[in-house]
Amino acid sequence: MSPAVPTKPVAISRRGLMLVISSPSGAGKSTIARHLLEADSNLSLSVSVTTRARRPSEIADRHYHFISVREFERMRDSDALLEWAEVHGNFYGTPREPVEIAMSEGRDMLFDIDWQGARQLQEKMSADVVSIFVLPPTMAELQSRLHRRAEDTEAVIETRLANSRSEIEHWREYDYVFINDDLDAAFDSVQCIVKAERVRRDRRFGLFDFVTGLLTEKPAL
Ligand code: 5GP
Repeated sequence: MSPAVPTKPVAISRRGLMLVISSPSGAGKSTIARHLLEADSNLSLSVSVTTRARRPSEIADRHYHFISVREFERMRDSDALLEWAEVHGNFYGTPREPVEIAMSEGRDMLFDIDWQGARQLQEKMSADVVSIFVLPPTMAELQSRLHRRAEDTEAVIETRLANSRSEIEHWREYDYVFINDDLDAAFDSVQCIVKAERVRRDRRFGLFDFVTGLLTEKPAL
């Protein structure tokens, strides 16, 4: 008895996922993002443009495209940015083209952006956006993480701490929220979120035809 063979194969594909992660500086979002990118070959980072100075540990065009204010304004005014915001006194924005290409090819993208950017993406592309907010376990821990990073001046750390409160106030605007008191557990949670979101019914094409095929399949004799 040979198994029944569907008359023609049904391709099931899906739209790309826009995974947005926000948190106050120092809550561990970038570390989680890095682990995620290393572990998942279908996920790529949306590399933002910024007018902020490069940190010693950062690589141009990998962590950010470092650009002048003039260039930023040119991109913003020509609609080359999908979203943009002023954060801690610098401009940041998401280049539109790489995102549109990834989405159309069904590839997922990760966005390490603040609440202002998350809100703009949710407004423009709500069906594709999955947003995650990472909270620090305590404000004291946030402060010591910023000092441990030792890449910013004391004045910059103070600005970031002051701004972290207003960032945290937006936690309700996100789909998922977790407290980063254990990096492995946090990473595990994010991986579970991505896995689940990838099989959401409304994100997948071809399911209707697949199920119709299943239901009309003739039993093998
Ligand atoms: P940092 O200077 O520490 O790299 O980033 C400062 C803040 O700006 C972080 O919260 C980061 O997520 C956010 N950010 C980075 N790139 C973008 C972007 O393209 N758009 C928006 N809205 N925020 C961004």
